[in-house]
Amino acid sequence: MQAFPIFLSLQDRPVLVVGGGGAAARKIELLLAAGARINLIADTVVGEIAQLIADARIVWAGRGFDDGDLAGIALAIVACDDEALQARVSHAARQHGLPVNVVDRPALSSFIMPAIVDRSPVTIAISTGGAAPALARRLRAEIERAVPAAVGRLARFAEIFRGQVRRTLERPRDRRRLWDRVFAGRVGELALAGDEIAARRELIRLLDTARSETEPVGMVHLVGAGPGDPDLLTMKAYRLLQSADVIVHDRLVSPEILAMARRDAERLCVGKRRGEAGLSQAEINACLITLAREGNSVVRLKGGDPLVFGRGGEEIEALVRSGISVEVVPGITAALGCAASTAVPLTHRDHAQSCVFVTGQLRDGTVALDWRTLARPRQTVVIYMGAGTLPIIAARLMEHGLPGATPVALIENGTTSRERRVVGTLATIERQAMRARLHGPTLCMIGEVIGLALARDPEVHFGSGAAGLGH
Ligand code: SAH
Repeated sequence: MQAFPIFLSLQDRPVLVVGGGGAAARKIELLLAAGARINLIADTVVGEIAQLIADARIVWAGRGFDDGDLAGIALAIVACDDEALQARVSHAARQHGLPVNVVDRPALSSFIMPAIVDRSPVTIAISTGGAAPALARRLRAEIERAVPAAVGRLARFAEIFRGQVRRTLERPRDRRRLWDRVFAGRVGELALAGDEIAARRELIRLLDTARSETEPVGMVHLVGAGPGDPDLLTMKAYRLLQSADVIVHDRLVSPEILAMARRDAERLCVGKRRGEAGLSQAEINACLITLAREGNSVVRLKGGDPLVFGRGGEEIEALVRSGISVEVVPGITAALGCAASTAVPLTHRDHAQSCVFVTGQLRDGTVALDWRTLARPRQTVVIYMGAGTLPIIAARLMEHGLPGATPVALIENGTTSRERRVVGTLATIERQAMRARLHGPTLCMIGEVIGLALARDPEVHFGSGAAGLGH
């Protein structure tokens, strides 16, 4: 985060504005809406500002800037074209330790003016850290479309009941549940529609029900987080991440996805990194059971799909045995995510009539797979957790009849902004993988279909990086 977002209270506080043109007029309008008292320094002013001066809504000094103008000021905004004056005010304000913004001059500013969606008291501020103001404006337009104009009315309605709800429901979790019901249900609809009397009645009914409710029953949602790109979450996963009390996740779950979760949900990372012990499966099961018994809505978040090489089955069994309800929400498994991002067809009428997903993990010191089945022609083989055992896998497949020229793709951190690809053949991939030093989760795809993607788009092979790294 480049700048720290805050909402500043300017009610009755003096603000210095330097400049009298259209840009200054727009800032003044916003500042007045926030209740600020405005001291204006400008040689000439546009009509709307002249009107505000005439109406005594702002104070105009009628002279040039003086360092003394900054005394007792909460904030300074410079919206004039005179560069020397911009620099002077900026410098003086900084010396006074005052926040200052010079319009369109980030180097002279100590704070950014965000794009704003004003649905008072609901205010949404958007910033791209100065990188792309036009993008901020676009986002604002999208948010304006998505947030009902009456949302401010809903917020004011909720405010009336805040104290009463706090006194009635002691536990924060109960209060959050109530507000979720209020905003997502009939009360919200009624308040948005302006029928405050009916909304009040319904809210009081909900509050009565919540008060007499016994301890909520916890449950566990076994949720697939997909391969990494947050846009590939399902809507259901997204909703659950927004409402969970606790999120128990693996290391595989990308930071971008964890960022989509409710800010104050408790997060527990129970995953292990390669070669490092995390919690054992039995300990994870016990932890899920305890959390659910405490009445929590638990999201057990797993990379990809929870039931594909994710030990989700064992967790379901343990929970069901303990009498805890489980819901499974599928996710896009790494094979599908990586196939999509490289545009490799996993099946193809002419080149692959079947596709198998296997794990390349060691078992009893070796990779125990049915090599004869895997070495069949016209089949795509996708190997999860196979980066470490790639040399054994490639050697066995060739021993069992797959040609050394069979195309192989390794995809690291597929679908994320950190995705890297290494493409080669069974005979060459081991050396290439060593050079590429792949540390993140890596998927291995073997079969003629990779050759198809290569023929279509050699960039898949020869990306920007060295050693045949793409993307
Ligand atoms: N349940 C997960 C798989 C867990 S096993 C799923 O359905 O995808 C962990 C393995 O998945 C990793 O070793 C790697 O082979 C693969 N994997 C998971 N996410 C990946 C990603 N974004 N890119 C490449 N491989 C990934």
